[in-house]
Amino acid sequence: MSDSSKNKKPEPDKEYVAKSRKCLMCRKDFTSAWAGERVCKDCKQTAAWNDSSLAA
Ligand SMILES: [Zn+2]
Repeated sequence: MSDSSKNKKPEPDKEYVAKSRKCLMCRKDFTSAWAGERVCKDCKQTAAWNDSSLAA
């Protein structure tokens, strides 16, 4: 009889844990929800960093 059930280690989901980092724009510490978030919410709202069409 062979061991049909191999105990595989459950791979942990590579979820990005929210951690504190510095905003690229205002250099303030903020909590980024994911790896790609490098600008704090404040800067995202005020500065049209991603939507230059908003600027006059
Ligand atoms: Zn900022």
